[in-house]
Amino acid sequence: MKNLTPKGIAFRISLFVATSVTVIVFLAEFFSESIHFLSLFLVFVSSLVISYFGFLIAIEQFIYKKIKLIYRTIHNLKLNKDDALSDFSLNKDIISQVSQEVIDWDQKNKLEIERLKDMESYRREFVGNVSHELKTPIFNIQGYLLTLIEGGLYDEKINMDYLARANKSVDRMIALIEDLDIISNLESGVIEMHLKKVNIIDLTQDVLSSLERKAQEKNIKLTIQNTLNKSVWVMADADKINQVLVNLIVNSIKYGKDGGETKIKFYDMDENILVEVADNGQGIEEKHHKRLFERFYRTDRGRARDSGGTGLGLSIVKHIIEAHQQTINLRSTVDVGSTFSFTLKKAKQ
Ligand code: ADP
Repeated sequence: MKNLTPKGIAFRISLFVATSVTVIVFLAEFFSESIHFLSLFLVFVSSLVISYFGFLIAIEQFIYKKIKLIYRTIHNLKLNKDDALSDFSLNKDIISQVSQEVIDWDQKNKLEIERLKDMESYRREFVGNVSHELKTPIFNIQGYLLTLIEGGLYDEKINMDYLARANKSVDRMIALIEDLDIISNLESGVIEMHLKKVNIIDLTQDVLSSLERKAQEKNIKLTIQNTLNKSVWVMADADKINQVLVNLIVNSIKYGKDGGETKIKFYDMDENILVEVADNGQGIEEKHHKRLFERFYRTDRGRARDSGGTGLGLSIVKHIIEAHQQTINLRSTVDVGSTFSFTLKKAKQ
């Protein structure tokens, strides 16, 4: 009984009705002992034709009513009489067609509900994370100010120190707000990538020079290893890739060991250039690798150290690299070191 059209249904029912009527007439004629095959044939044909059209009209009315209701519900539209059945022909298997549409509609709704649930939990988590991140510097500032108000202001041993510490917490809040701004702009697509031909070696050299002092504080050596031995041109948004390198190299210093080394290497990969930022620092346990690029994700060791970071650095890095239609990867072993590597498209010479 699969794939029945309204016409098919009407025909089957009327065949049954016509056969029943003919059998009854036949039995009546049989008992009155006057069987007329011509009249039986006429009874059969006429009841078949009458019931066929009768059932067809009834089914059409029924389907029209039901389908219009279903369509109103699933498309949430005000359909008029013609719209409701405009797509349908009574030669088609309307019921299966409508059930398929309802299944598709149901599937679409389920996906939409999943998406809304994900967004809701992301929003909840995000607000929780932001308030958690803001709590530490705000409470610190409050603590320093209270101490100063309660007389510390006149104590020369602590007054300048506490003001400087409060200022450091303000810097931390500003850094968080700036990173949040970058993330939200990257996610909403407000920031466009302005791809230009960039010499990645020169760009890296500039970043290293700007971070030299920070590295010296931990006796970390920053070096470029350019085995390609020539200028390396890539298509990139220079400012954004500058930010990627800063975030990765600052991390290699923050989580690097005293007296350690960070090497930036470049590899020719056919259409792309692979850039590696490799340190010999504390390393990252395998279980964190998958989630490390999520906003505010920190390893236990990273959290314990409270490096003053915003927890958004790697998430920004990933967004920028993906906006270049490229990928970023991580290889890391605890107490041996970490290597972050990303690709950039080669520029035509
Ligand atoms: P944060 O501001 O905490 O540094 P990131 O997004 O830059 O935020 O990094 C997320 C976490 O990844 C860090 O808290 C740290 O635990 C870990 N991490 C990042 N880079 C390194 C690295 N080079 N070596 C070890 N751990 C790292």
